[in-house]
Amino acid sequence: MNTETTVHDYFNRPLRDLRISVTDRCNFRCTYCMPAEIFGPDYPFLKRDELLSFEELERLTKIFVHSLGVQKIRITGGEPLMRRDLTELIRRIKKIHGVEDIAMTTNGSLLPKYAKGLKEAGLKRVSISLDSLKDEIFGKINGRGVSVQTVLEGIDAASKAGLQVKINMVVKKGMNDSEIIPMAKFFREKGHILRFIEFMDVGNTNQWKLDDVVPKKQIIEDINKIMPLEPIDPNYTGEVASRYRYVGSDVEIGVISSVSDAFCSTCNRARLSASGMLYTCLFASKGHDIKSPLRSDLTDEQLTTLLQDIWNGRKDRYSEERSVVGKNRKKIEMSHIGG
Ligand code: SAM
Ligand code: SF4
Ligand code: SF4
Repeated sequence: MNTETTVHDYFNRPLRDLRISVTDRCNFRCTYCMPAEIFGPDYPFLKRDELLSFEELERLTKIFVHSLGVQKIRITGGEPLMRRDLTELIRRIKKIHGVEDIAMTTNGSLLPKYAKGLKEAGLKRVSISLDSLKDEIFGKINGRGVSVQTVLEGIDAASKAGLQVKINMVVKKGMNDSEIIPMAKFFREKGHILRFIEFMDVGNTNQWKLDDVVPKKQIIEDINKIMPLEPIDPNYTGEVASRYRYVGSDVEIGVISSVSDAFCSTCNRARLSASGMLYTCLFASKGHDIKSPLRSDLTDEQLTTLLQDIWNGRKDRYSEERSVVGKNRKKIEMSHIGG
């Protein structure tokens, strides 16, 4: 690890993880992320020239890795596989010296087409989102009637291509909490790590209520009653999921408890939107425009200073302050910031 280049924020948290959103578009309309009533046919999605180009993303990533201490890159969206030639971006990032890990979060629907090429380009891991094993529940959640089988085929294609696979399930009370146990059993059998994500108040359009959150404690208790679990240590500082293993097996699950058990004190992630805004928190109300300076004649050194200053001044810890500041805050939508 190159500690000389590491930047630290106001609370002494380093920057290690850069999440790059490559598009704000998606072929799903998940109710908790891009509700169809709001993200309809007239929604003003970004135009091509408003997106950061692959050249711009490569230049920025180099600066983040070589001069700010970033080690991990995660590609997200919108649905990242809707961005044309995405494998080309993976190939470029893979070549950057110092990138230790390249992962992607995807809804899985386009993986049968792209998994092999992504692996060949250097992608290591995919987190595939799936919230239910029942078509009637899943079709409603994804807002497009997409079948469970479509995503299962994506999961299989990713495994076959040699990508490490994790499954993400957002849990919302009354929506899919009845699916916690069936999903746990299914993915235990398949041997994939399933991660339960507490429904979060990202953005302002998803009608979030605290009552809709199924807290980590309950998820673990419910599974433990049927399939005993034991906690395991985090893989590294700043890992967002609390890990558990099924007793007597080597299959794990994780729970991402942004609401019931905040982990801001170790948060080392920055998020770059497809339009070139940098956010230092998932719940940020405003970002920092990086596209304009990138498209001006600033040198790499000047851009580095700009980015260092942003991280140095970071004071975000929204999940720890939610109950006080949460209610009326204007926040960036999940499909823009990328999760
Ligand atoms: N389209 C890709 C996908 O769905 O995996 C990548 C982008 S999506 C915004 C990233 C992750 O955020 C997904 O796992 C999704 O389920 C999760 N997510 C979206 N809205 C959420 C919310 N309100 N609370 C918790 N997780 C959410
Ligand atoms: Fe699309 Fe992912 Fe948001 Fe669902 S969670 S609407 S798949 S970006
Ligand atoms: Fe990081 Fe913000 Fe989430 Fe806290 S609320 S863990 S600072 S992204």
